[in-house]
Amino acid sequence: MIEATVKPSLLHDVAQRLNAVCPLIPEQVTMIAVTKKKPVEAIRAAYALGIRHFGESRVQEAIAKQAELTDLPDITWHLIGHLQSNKAAKAIEHFDWIHSLDSLKLAQRLNQILQERDGAAPHGKKYRQPRFCLQVKMVPDPNKSGWTQAELWQDLAPLSQLSHLSIAGLMTIPPLGQNDDEIYDIFSQAKAFADQIQHRNVPNITMEQLSMGMSGDYPLAIKAGSTMVRLGRTLFGDR
Ligand SMILES: *Cc1c(COP(=O)(O)O)cnc(C)c1O
Repeated sequence: MIEATVKPSLLHDVAQRLNAVCPLIPEQVTMIAVTKKKPVEAIRAAYALGIRHFGESRVQEAIAKQAELTDLPDITWHLIGHLQSNKAAKAIEHFDWIHSLDSLKLAQRLNQILQERDGAAPHGKKYRQPRFCLQVKMVPDPNKSGWTQAELWQDLAPLSQLSHLSIAGLMTIPPLGQNDDEIYDIFSQAKAFADQIQHRNVPNITMEQLSMGMSGDYPLAIKAGSTMVRLGRTLFGDR
């Protein structure tokens, strides 16, 4: 097999960006390198520099990239964009984390697919076991999907009955046009909400991860208690 190589200029560029960002990210926070709309060479460059968590917004784009990266087996793949119901089965096959679980209906569909898959599994067959974050809106935002706090309180009981689904945290994105104080407040509210849910001890639901923070706001998210930041532009430049 021919070793895939990365252009030295790209490697240098990503290395410099990583050197600037990494000191701001505490050890216990997972940095997800978001490579949507970027070529596989960007993934190879970050991988060569030690990054193992990669995020993509679209299922099809991720599948195409994964097919070119079969020589890098130890990548953890994160789906961070809205998941359409008709792509649910593919998403389960190709991602380790799905941050964008945004409705009870989608959760029920995913649970059903996982149940059927595991019921029909040939002996010893190992499937990916994706874990999920519930996408929440801490303030009203018509441009985003996800639960409001009130809606999620209502749906916690039916969600907890989906025993094939590993729900392991919350994900949130602040609306556009907020100042730093407002963004920090939104992230802090999300942290408090996750803690409240955790204290409720809902079966099948844990709140071990809090996915929040992008290139423009990750220091605020970390300060508020984020455990997973999703960084695109700051690592790879504008899209
Ligand atoms: C694109 C995207 C990111 C990364 O955004 P940057 O501003 O490039 O860091 C993070 N999260 C989600 C959900 C995204 O769609």
